[in-house]
Amino acid sequence: METYLNLIGGKSVPARDGRTYEHLCPSDGRPFATAPRSGAADVDAAVQAARSAFEGAWGRMPAVERGRLLLRLSEAIRREAEALAALEARDTGKPLKQARADIAAAARYFEFYGGAADKLMGDTIPFLEGYTVFTLREPHGVTAHIVPWNYPAQIFARSVGAALATGNACVVKPGEEAGLSIVRMAELAREVGLPDGALNVVHGIGEEAGAALAAHPDIDHLSFTGSPEVGTLVQAAAARNHVGCTLELGGKSPQVVFADADLEACIPVVVTAITQNAGQTCSAGSRVLIERKVYEEVAGRIAERFAQVRVGTHEMDLDMGALVSETQRRRVQGYVDRAIEEGVPVLARGRLEPGLPAGGFYAQPVLFGPVPRANRLACEEVFGPVLAAFPFEDEEDAIRLANGTPYGLVAGVWTRDLGRGMRLARAIRTGQVFLNAYGAGGGVELPFGGFKHSGHGREKGFEALYGFTAVKTVVVRH
Ligand code: NAD
Repeated sequence: METYLNLIGGKSVPARDGRTYEHLCPSDGRPFATAPRSGAADVDAAVQAARSAFEGAWGRMPAVERGRLLLRLSEAIRREAEALAALEARDTGKPLKQARADIAAAARYFEFYGGAADKLMGDTIPFLEGYTVFTLREPHGVTAHIVPWNYPAQIFARSVGAALATGNACVVKPGEEAGLSIVRMAELAREVGLPDGALNVVHGIGEEAGAALAAHPDIDHLSFTGSPEVGTLVQAAAARNHVGCTLELGGKSPQVVFADADLEACIPVVVTAITQNAGQTCSAGSRVLIERKVYEEVAGRIAERFAQVRVGTHEMDLDMGALVSETQRRRVQGYVDRAIEEGVPVLARGRLEPGLPAGGFYAQPVLFGPVPRANRLACEEVFGPVLAAFPFEDEEDAIRLANGTPYGLVAGVWTRDLGRGMRLARAIRTGQVFLNAYGAGGGVELPFGGFKHSGHGREKGFEALYGFTAVKTVVVRH
């Protein structure tokens, strides 16, 4: 059994009361590591360490130096990529190739934000005769980052990368099911010279460490990725402390396929967008909307491809791994069973490899269609490998259906008619729209976030730097 610790003020420490909890490997359901089960006292120590760093060496460090440290961290992550990917795969159950891609993305975030650190500038504002007015972009101070289990390395790096680049001091709470790569990357940050306390990691259970962090009165800004229910609690805690928060809460993202689409390009992407990470992706393409006149053909071709999806252990490195936990497996199975009971037709299922470990949290991917528009699969986030197909009549109907959920995170539109593609890009209320592509969040450079219940604020790209800073206006009379 491996032992992981918190990182507080540059020191690797257990929980103050010595409590721990186990991380299970989703591929076989067996415990392989322990992490501290932190409480309010641990969170408080981490926030105090961050405050000292912010008021000390870290807070005074010039932007160019902060940027260099992040670039060094990016290189250190690349050097350790294989070990980090192996840990990420074991912790989450995702195939190794996916974990490798996640670690490469984490390194890329620190590279991107390292390069951006000294390129964020304020404005000069024309004002009255005899005045000069300018703005400074200042860090909030101590920022809290509550990270989910689905993409621990990536979500940690995107959030903390932007926060550190702008000079904030961070306290991170990884997801309890998976997130051990986070503390390893934070240790690398210390090794490359990040001042003690600039980046702290506190492991623990959501209702304990997570709630204590969200409610801490000395936090200046909160960044949360996870479920809408917990997002509401985090936002309420932020409101009580009168601080801002960024919420990224998932989606029910559509891919809209018109009759003139390039199906060779489209079909594999539609299948990957829901089976990647076993569908446990906030931006998973969980609905495919198909123009009625080609519905049978397109749904049939998706089904053919879907039936070839292979599910195995993280080490088998196939298309899909296990789900993260037994709870998550049951939740997904519940959606599948209920849809079948309701008579929603199953078009295809993926394949579980023979001989998988009995204790693993495996789910068979399922393609349903045509799904009635009033069915739960039309609007609720399953967070598993379940794709729902719907026919639509025309452009207007496609827009209505695409927008017909409480969510608004990502959409894909497949058509050779660029004018139509642009009309849909404007009409669909999501934070990202892909035309003839689908990025499940896309590159690190691309601003990402939600409309409606998918949350608010933007992560990724240059846009995130604005979110982790506040504008100060300086008025000089002369
Ligand atoms: P969650 O919202 O419970 O957990 C996300 C993070 O919040 C974790 O770090 C968790 O420890 C923490 N947390 C939990 N309770 C908390 C509380 N009371 N106060 C503060 N922090 C708390 O999500 P989950 O249990 O990991 O997954 C449940 C569902 O959430 C999924 O099935 C899925 O629908 C959704 N989800 C969405 C995303 C996303 O990227 N949008 C990621 C993970 C989960």
